[in-house]
Amino acid sequence: MVSAREETTPRSVPAAADEPVHQAFMRQALEGARSALHIGEVPIGAVVVFRGEAVADGFNQPRGTQDPTGHAEIIALRRAARALGNYRLPGTTLYVTLEPCLMCVGAIVNARVTRVVYGADEPKFGAIRSVLDVEKLSLNHRFEVLPGVLEEDCRKLVVDFFQFQRKRP
Ligand code: ZN
Repeated sequence: MVSAREETTPRSVPAAADEPVHQAFMRQALEGARSALHIGEVPIGAVVVFRGEAVADGFNQPRGTQDPTGHAEIIALRRAARALGNYRLPGTTLYVTLEPCLMCVGAIVNARVTRVVYGADEPKFGAIRSVLDVEKLSLNHRFEVLPGVLEEDCRKLVVDFFQFQRKRP
């Protein structure tokens, strides 16, 4: 069972980005990103996995909801907390198509998420290793990070979105 393997992976051994289990959940996050795209939002999607099962998902929608916190990760974490009946989410893995921003890293820390798996780096906002290095912060909770899962698919959605926006009159 994939869940057992995931939970017993030692912290010192990084899981491989090409593992089918990670790709499967990232594909689910990509579906969320496409839902965001269809309503004119920046295409980012997230899925929270607990014991090998997706328990919640979310996609980016700050514009439509007029909510600056309406990021895919925040929405997925809120739903996961409700689904699991706990405001803390130890043992969960958050899959997200793009490197989380500073706000979302804050939420990940507060939620005690065990692992974050993401697709593409976000050079302007990414708060895992792009604009700041989460490893160097003295946070009260540390989480594992696995970048680069379906990286090209995740990046292409966002790049295409912004290119399309620039072309519009
Ligand atoms: Zn965010």
